[in-house]
Amino acid sequence: MARIAFIGLGNMGGGMAANLAKAGHDVRAFDLSAEALARAKSAGCLPAESAAATIEDAEAVITMLPAGRHVEQVYEEAVFGNAAKTALLIDCSTIEVATARRLAEAAAAKGLTAVDAPVSGGIGAANAGTLTFMVGGSAAAFERAEVFLADMGKAVIHAGGNGAGQAAKICNNMILGATMIATCEAFVLARKLGLDPQKFFDIASVSSGQSWSMTTYAPVPGVGPETPADHDYQGGFAAALMLKDLRLAMDAAASVDADTPMGAKAAELYQRFVDMGEAGRDFSGIIRMLEKGEK
Ligand code: NAD
Repeated sequence: MARIAFIGLGNMGGGMAANLAKAGHDVRAFDLSAEALARAKSAGCLPAESAAATIEDAEAVITMLPAGRHVEQVYEEAVFGNAAKTALLIDCSTIEVATARRLAEAAAAKGLTAVDAPVSGGIGAANAGTLTFMVGGSAAAFERAEVFLADMGKAVIHAGGNGAGQAAKICNNMILGATMIATCEAFVLARKLGLDPQKFFDIASVSSGQSWSMTTYAPVPGVGPETPADHDYQGGFAAALMLKDLRLAMDAAASVDADTPMGAKAAELYQRFVDMGEAGRDFSGIIRMLEKGEK
């Protein structure tokens, strides 16, 4: 079993670090939040006093931080100066493609190997060890990362070179944001046309309108499998995080001159939903905004 440094023990990182400890690894963990650190300790991790203190002799340094600037800061202040040349740096946070590439280059310049490995699946999947990892890095680095990531997920996929994991993540979530809105507006229109939502679900979920947003995450209470819609749109994937991913996608699209009008519209609508004070609401709750007909 390996010695692993784990930095960032929030909603996602807490469960991920716990699963590594459960798999028998020696997990040295750090978070700025004392509460998160205490939770990691009770889950079998060894709490450290600083990010730097987790790194000594670590075979893998895993980060699960809010955004690119946090990863950059932790890498520059704690990781680059302390990691052994044999250590593999694995960033699981969702960050800018460009930042992931820049950090991988900075790591390489110091003789270190880095991969980006963002995840699909929410807090439930992080706790259950059923995340999907999309990994950007060399084939050799992927093989090394896979060993650790497999203890936290159900699928580990090599997306391509550095940054490809982040590219896959934001492109996937751009589809998700747009299809959720399309699904919500179809349910609203169906109801206004006098169609029973359950009937519409029965039809669309086996017709060409089918998507994950329809079949697995239906945004209407009492329709389809149990989803956040059945719990007043609490839990699930917060609208603020969907907006974060859509903004990353829009910035990335602008940087390569890609035309993404549906993604842009989705970002605009999620911005409006968040501005209504719904940042913490599950992203499927945007159906309420559409029902109200907010323009
Ligand atoms: P979170 O805010 O719950 O956790 C982040 C943790 O990082 C916090 O505990 C915070 O104290 C800690 N932190 C911040 N700066 C730090 C530093 N300098 N040193 C040490 N710790 C520091 O966020 P989360 O929901 O766990 O998300 C983490 C990442 O995963 C994000 O990039 C997010 O976009 C991505 N993600 C989240 C979900 C989800 O459903 N929550 C799903 C997929 C991907």
